[in-house]
Amino acid sequence: MTTHLDRLLFAQGGQCFFCLKPLPKAEASVEHLVASANGGTNDDGNCVACCKALNHLLGSKSIKEKMQIVLNQRGNFQCPSSACAQPAPPPSPAPAATAPKAALQSTNGNPSAIDLVLADLKKRGASRPRKVATLTSTIKALLKQHQKPNTDAEIVSLIAELQKRGKVIVTDTKVSYRLG
Ligand SMILES: [Zn+2]
Repeated sequence: MTTHLDRLLFAQGGQCFFCLKPLPKAEASVEHLVASANGGTNDDGNCVACCKALNHLLGSKSIKEKMQIVLNQRGNFQCPSSACAQPAPPPSPAPAATAPKAALQSTNGNPSAIDLVLADLKKRGASRPRKVATLTSTIKALLKQHQKPNTDAEIVSLIAELQKRGKVIVTDTKVSYRLG
């Protein structure tokens, strides 16, 4: 025998009417859009299958209040139940147009190379390297010490990034700092 709930669930493709998550029958209940208390009928046209928790929340609110609840979710409706609250799988990351420079990238919570360099330069106070050549070898040693990529190309791109961020000003062979 097919129940009202079975019929509604089938018509909805086995999904909750509101959150569109797969809805096991044990978690499902019949929601009367116009509540029975407000004169709503049992017809399929007035009924949807949805998560029990949401049905409970909507209760016998007016259809206006219900619409407001749905609209307030701004298109990303989550039913207030554990069955429906499972996070959607994270979207697969869009392929980056260009591979980020390893030296500028912070990976798994480690400080990025540029953060290491900035921290080191701040620590040095007045004894910061005054020449590009010294700065280059200082950064190289620091990155090596932290087992970061430390090729000449990495260091050139690091110094370029420092300049772009306004932390370092290079004039000919001389370096000055705006570390704040
Ligand atoms: Zn739901």
